[in-house]
Amino acid sequence: MDLDTLRFGPDGLIPGIVQDRAGAIRMVAFLNRESLQLTLDSGYVTFWSRSRQALWTKGESSGNRLKLVQIRPDCDGDALLILADPEGPTCHRGTESCFDGDPNDQVTQSWPATLPWLGRLEALLTSRKAQADLAGSYTQKLFAQGVDRIAKKVVEEAGEVILAAKNDNREDFLGEAADLIFHLDMLLLERGASLLDVVEVLHRRHAERTGGPA
Ligand code: AMP
Ligand code: ZN
Ligand code: ZN
Ligand code: ZN
Repeated sequence: MDLDTLRFGPDGLIPGIVQDRAGAIRMVAFLNRESLQLTLDSGYVTFWSRSRQALWTKGESSGNRLKLVQIRPDCDGDALLILADPEGPTCHRGTESCFDGDPNDQVTQSWPATLPWLGRLEALLTSRKAQADLAGSYTQKLFAQGVDRIAKKVVEEAGEVILAAKNDNREDFLGEAADLIFHLDMLLLERGASLLDVVEVLHRRHAERTGGPA
């Protein structure tokens, strides 16, 4: 990266967007030329604190530093995407990202922050499938009933999604869609597949049509 092509603002600052390798945006802060040079030299992300008017190596007091992976300027050089490996939570509130809202408030959840949860749900379902006799587990029972029973649930839930889509109750609609995805995931697992395999197929089809990676 050529520092001379960067366009620092009139205050000598350029915004830096910190992203981790999972794709989550962790925080946004400003850099001046000196903090950028320090970041490159030290390998740890260093900002210019506007409130303290001082160099600020993220994590200098909390220990939650950001180990630099790569810095990428945007199209016109007035913003930086800083890829980093966080050594702890990035927000001073203790959350991983400054953009993590109330965990119960779905609207504040970003794709990269939310999607990994599907993987955890699938892992839980996988362990239910492996367990022989877990009293009271709906999924364990359903797995035990086999592929036909699970497939029937998928059809049933798909029908409920169709009905709910025609009503105005958003909660119901989302609930039925959740049921459908949940049981479809169970069916995939029953047949030795995963939601990951489905995403891969979607991605491959898209790449084939557009003639390149998405
Ligand atoms: P740290 O850099 O993590 O040692 O934190 C030093 C101080 O910087 C904290 O006391 C906060 O005031 C502030 N701070 C830390 N992390 C953030 C952040 N992600 N966004 C804004 N301010 C922060
Ligand atoms: Zn720009
Ligand atoms: Zn924060
Ligand atoms: Zn349902």
